[in-house]
Amino acid sequence: MRALRLLEWKTEPALVEIQRPTAGPGEVVIRVGGAGACRSDLTVMRDYDSDRRPWRLPFTLGHETAGWVAEIGEGVRSFEVDQPVVVYAPWGCGRCPSCSLGLETYCQHKDRTAAPGGGAGLGRDGGMAEFMRVPDAERHLVALPAGLEPRRAAPLADAGLTAYHAVARSWDKLRPGSVAVVIGVGGLGHLAIQILKATTATTVVAVDLEATAVELATRVGADHALPGGPRVAELVRDLAGPRGAEVVLDFVGSQDSLDLARSLVGPLSDLTIVGLARGTVPVGFPTIDYEVSVQTSYWGSSRELVEVVDLAARGLIDVETCEYSLEDAAQAYVDLAQGRVRGRAVVIP
Ligand code: NAD
Ligand code: ZN
Repeated sequence: MRALRLLEWKTEPALVEIQRPTAGPGEVVIRVGGAGACRSDLTVMRDYDSDRRPWRLPFTLGHETAGWVAEIGEGVRSFEVDQPVVVYAPWGCGRCPSCSLGLETYCQHKDRTAAPGGGAGLGRDGGMAEFMRVPDAERHLVALPAGLEPRRAAPLADAGLTAYHAVARSWDKLRPGSVAVVIGVGGLGHLAIQILKATTATTVVAVDLEATAVELATRVGADHALPGGPRVAELVRDLAGPRGAEVVLDFVGSQDSLDLARSLVGPLSDLTIVGLARGTVPVGFPTIDYEVSVQTSYWGSSRELVEVVDLAARGLIDVETCEYSLEDAAQAYVDLAQGRVRGRAVVIP
């Protein structure tokens, strides 16, 4: 079968022929229906090396995958052939205190603590292929309801789940009358807007540098969508009032975006950094407003993925996708790097 694989650190991935996987005990092989291309993959292929991540190369990219069950290994009882599923892709041991809460992102097993961030498409073979092997399938697959096609559901596994986890961390501050700002309306941000609208009564203000992303923000339900620029802080302050926003979710994480985020928060608010663009926020009196909680937020739990799928199944959130064939998968990453993707690029093998 064909698979888009990272062969060496700091190179572009290549479409190569590899053997189709089979399902061992506890495993399921899925026929891939869609695999999302995340901006984090650009960090993986361009910035990581063996010092930063003890992952063995090569591996197949793609940590946002949905498809249909193709082969069921011994001992797996919850799934049947042809059933549509989405993959929970942070793969831990399943038994440590973090994994037993469904937070496999923070697996404490001795083989895993050296490798935060590992899983499907992240050191293990992911979904940019015709078929994908899923270990511990009872824990790592979530059934998709009829009507939610794998090609539309794949981005829920990261873009949806990460946005949901970040929003959920601030639910207590997202009361009626509050203002939440979403910076960066890409794969993650356009879902964050919808998750905010579906799960809270906050007023959502979205900011992006690209006119088409500002337009997307409005289309998916932002109360206000603003183009980035020198006046944006003042415009948000006009909307939020002198106290500032209760929650700012930064899906860029660059120095520019974090400087903006820092200027928008008011006392007792949350500033949540999701984007990996390596900016920093000074914290301490008097550099930031009183009692602001500055936090990073990373991916999410398997339980939260079930909740995200529920929102999508009921039509409360919907992924905007640009589709690419597997032959054009490398192009999807080029387009993403150049800012030409709106919503999420999804590779359909
Ligand atoms: P994306 O490219 O789809 O979206 C980024 C958006 O931000 C684009 O619309 C772009 O125009 C906009 N943007 C860029 N600079 C901006 C600025 N200064 N102000 C306002 N808007 C700006 O990317 P994505 O796949 O949605 O990922 C977003 C970020 O989140 C990336 O850094 C990615 O690596 C990271 N990420 C983090 C996690 C996590 O668990 N923390 C998970 C997935 C992705
Ligand atoms: Zn574990």
